[in-house]
Amino acid sequence: MPFLATVLTLYPDMFPGPLGLSMAGRGLEDGIWSLEARDIRRHATDKHASVDDTPAGGGPGMVLKPDVLARAIDAATTAEDTRPRLLMSPRGRPLTQDYVRELSAGSGVMIVCGRFEGVDERVIEARGLTEVSVGDYVLSGGEPAAHVVLDAIVRLLPGIMGNAASGHDESFERGRLEHPQYTRPREWEGLEIPPVLLSGDHAAITRWKQEQSEKLTKARRPDLIRPKD
Ligand code: SAH
Repeated sequence: MPFLATVLTLYPDMFPGPLGLSMAGRGLEDGIWSLEARDIRRHATDKHASVDDTPAGGGPGMVLKPDVLARAIDAATTAEDTRPRLLMSPRGRPLTQDYVRELSAGSGVMIVCGRFEGVDERVIEARGLTEVSVGDYVLSGGEPAAHVVLDAIVRLLPGIMGNAASGHDESFERGRLEHPQYTRPREWEGLEIPPVLLSGDHAAITRWKQEQSEKLTKARRPDLIRPKD
């Protein structure tokens, strides 16, 4: 069974979007994963097909209605569906490479994309949604966040990455940022590739990569280095 991603959105035309190209797009064509974007608005019942209403207690903006969203979720899932249900939200659990790896090991995900000021709080608990954030900034909707989550998951699915090893050395995989990368030409605008990389001495090359990786992590992301490491 391919990894199944179900996205609930008010903008189904945003999918597959960037996920239809490059690595993720080839994965879709090859049947390694599949994607269904479902329009939340189809589950509106009033004559204006409204999906949002004003916030209780006042305040700016609009809130996605719980009844409409719950119907969309119920229509997209079955009782046997054990896939995690994510709600894109700046208040959510930060997306990390460890979490991405965990999600990519499952059978799929359902992702709810918020809009406006967000969704009615009651539906989050009633439908068991896990709020997930892609960073400490506010987007206008959950769709670009869903692109990010799915892109990160899909590249880890077996059969997606051309060179399977390229997943291993990367930033965050061992709590470290990746070392700098170079390619030909050997000299470019008077700048040389570090000689050790051309030395053919594999032990020295590995050592250099580790040192660079440590140095960069300490300088840029000391928070990634846990005391026990
Ligand atoms: N009023 C909300 C922000 C709403 S932004 C607040 O202050 O928390 C509208 C929608 O965009 C959200 O419902 C969510 O689905 C999505 N979104 C915005 N920023 C996001 C982020 N950093 N990570 C994940 N989703 C985000």
